[in-house]
Amino acid sequence: MTAGVSFAARLSFEGISHSYASGAETLRDVSLAAEPGEVLCLLGPSGSGKTTLLRIAAGIETQNAGRIRLNDRVIAGPGVFLPPEQRSIGLVFQDFALFPHLTILDNVRFGLTALSPSEARREAMIALERVGLETYASAYPHVLSGGEQQRVALARALAPRPAVLLMDEPFSGLDSRLKDAVRAETLDILRQSRATAIVVTHDAEEAMRMGDRIALLKDGRLVQTGTAEDLYRNPSDPFVAGFFSELNEFTGRVVSGAVETPLGRFPAPDLTEGEEAIVAVRLSGFQVNQQGGTIPARLASRRFLGVVEHLELAVPGADRHVRARVRCGTLAPGARDIWIDVVPADVLVFARHSFETSGESA
Ligand code: ADP
Ligand code: MG
Repeated sequence: MTAGVSFAARLSFEGISHSYASGAETLRDVSLAAEPGEVLCLLGPSGSGKTTLLRIAAGIETQNAGRIRLNDRVIAGPGVFLPPEQRSIGLVFQDFALFPHLTILDNVRFGLTALSPSEARREAMIALERVGLETYASAYPHVLSGGEQQRVALARALAPRPAVLLMDEPFSGLDSRLKDAVRAETLDILRQSRATAIVVTHDAEEAMRMGDRIALLKDGRLVQTGTAEDLYRNPSDPFVAGFFSELNEFTGRVVSGAVETPLGRFPAPDLTEGEEAIVAVRLSGFQVNQQGGTIPARLASRRFLGVVEHLELAVPGADRHVRARVRCGTLAPGARDIWIDVVPADVLVFARHSFETSGESA
């Protein structure tokens, strides 16, 4: 028997810490919940602990501290460990390997060992219909495209009707042309199945496209959780800001409530007088003009990227080039000395105290 949940469930992590036998801490006091029916994206750079957190939820790995709850029931915690097959949690691995020598139906049936053969067959067909591949039931995986194989892996994970589905970088093996389409299909299927899902990715744009909410991990710690818009507009620190957009960074002290930079003075209402601050300006945060403007700049390089062009600008007082992205055609082909204006909404001011700069500094 499984936990017996076939409707959307809430999966919560409470104070999860973990380290592998080899030593270093991989997760530190992570508390996070995926709400019923929600698609929660777990985002973070490589090595931040995303896969480890999924493995703990699935019961393949055990935490050193903390609890995992499915609805109100503790499924892993001090003195409690529900084995993977009883958790009602499905897992789609990064490489979603299908068995090449089994038919597509048998691949999907694989995890349905608790059912009679005829029931297993029926449930597997229902899962294949859900992903639109029922006509391929008796074919073998090699006849399918990469995107279709990914859908079979999704059907295999959905077949036991898990309450929660965990997907570990499910699109990373697909080429970029396929990715958008498969991502959209997967999202549709997740919505229809009404399962609660946690989707792992290291790609901020993918997280923004898929997630109802995003949880950002860094070095095993949860840095910020919220909607894509929350994290983009109100990042809690320069790391979060730098994950969602490329930045020019300047440092300076707060004097009379503002920080002086080569791009102008920016208000820092939440910071203490005299405190060191980081001012981050998104590459999209510039208006450029050849006739006039606030700050003079000289074009050091420009690169055509289609819709936009990437500029490197020498600005008086800045010890590195300021980088900007502007619409192609804004500047004449031979432009050299220009003017720039900074868009206030694209400027973020942080207290420096405990943060290192993200390495993207200008
Ligand atoms: P992510 O999925 O975000 O890339 P992981 O959870 O795979 O991160 O890894 C987190 C950290 O744990 C990394 O430093 C990684 O090297 C380490 N790690 C992962 N798996 C193991 C393992 N089986 N044994 C020891 N260390 C591991
Ligand atoms: Mg991983």
